[in-house]
Amino acid sequence: MEPVRTCVGCRQRAKQHELLRVIAQGENLVIDRLAAGRGAWIHQSKNCLELAITRFAFSRALRTKKQFDTAAVAVHIEQAETMLAQK
Ligand SMILES: [Zn+2]
Repeated sequence: MEPVRTCVGCRQRAKQHELLRVIAQGENLVIDRLAAGRGAWIHQSKNCLELAITRFAFSRALRTKKQFDTAAVAVHIEQAETMLAQK
C-alpha cells in the first residue's frame, strides 16, 4: 500500500505521489524525492506553499530553526500549475 503523508501546508493527508518532497540544501529548499534524510511533504499548490511559509512549517518538519529560501519550490509549483492550466 502506498504510504500516506501529511502536507505541511494544509495539513491534509495524501498519498505520497500526490505530494512533493522538499528537502533542505544549505539555505535553500529544493524538491527532491530521493535524497536521504529528513523531508517535508507538500501539495503542488501555491496555497499550500504559502500556508507552509506562514506557519514556518518547513523549519518544523525539517527540525531546524533555520529560515529557508523557498524560491526554488515556488518556481517549481508555479511551472507545474501553468502546465496544468494549459491542458
Ligand atoms: Zn496541502
